[in-house]
Amino acid sequence: MLKVNNINVYYGKVETLFNVSFEVGDDEIVSLIGANGAGKTTLMKTIVGINRTAQGSIEYNGKAIHNQKPHKSIFDGIVYVPEGREVFPQMTVLENLEMGAFSKRYSKGEMADRVAEVYDLFPRLKERSKQAAGTMSGGEQQMLAIGRGMMSNPKLLMFDEPSLGLAPVIVDEMFRAIIHINEMKKTPIVIAEQNAFMAMGISNRTYVLEVGHVVNHGKSSVLLDSPEIKKAYLGG
Ligand code: ATP
Repeated sequence: MLKVNNINVYYGKVETLFNVSFEVGDDEIVSLIGANGAGKTTLMKTIVGINRTAQGSIEYNGKAIHNQKPHKSIFDGIVYVPEGREVFPQMTVLENLEMGAFSKRYSKGEMADRVAEVYDLFPRLKERSKQAAGTMSGGEQQMLAIGRGMMSNPKLLMFDEPSLGLAPVIVDEMFRAIIHINEMKKTPIVIAEQNAFMAMGISNRTYVLEVGHVVNHGKSSVLLDSPEIKKAYLGG
């Protein structure tokens, strides 16, 4: 459903992605691993149209979408959940969720159904629906960021470092929720992570980025066993 073909992305004159190709199939979870600065965020931002590609193409269900404006990508159903959550701190949990549906003209009933779906996945958000988002813990804010991403009923969800700064038990909960979204809604998911072990553990396929190059890709179960990957990304 998503095909990135040989893209090259620059910040000013500095090239950040070099001939990157990347694919996501229907129903798949694909992980994107690599060190700090490898280009994971840049790739996802280019898919959603925040960054431009100088060469190459991005196709989404057969339609060329590279360099289209981010709001068009949102209308196409492509949702990017940024690193660091970026919830609206003064707004309540419920208001943040409703913001996630801004691209839709939901009836009251549809909005309520969507919110209920998020609350089923994260009951803690329901308990805190009237609380200002900025006063919640990091884990709760990450749940909210994921929930807000689900509100528009996306066709492709991309998560940037959802485990960043969270306690291991919360990370487990987050990853379980991501699997649940994929299984229940059949939503294809891209997950960029420095926590390579976790990301590879829940994904069908993995791409390894190093300084802007895809240096390896394949089935996650196979890469998890690769001595090279173990040494570079899994601590031995
Ligand atoms: P991280 O996990 O730290 O977010 P990443 O793999 O997502 O890493 P990117 O954020 O995509 O990496 O960064 C790739 C490279 O591009 C880095 O060298 C970074 O310094 C550079 N870069 C990122 N954003 C900008 C920007 N707005 N202007 C200039 N250079 C940038």
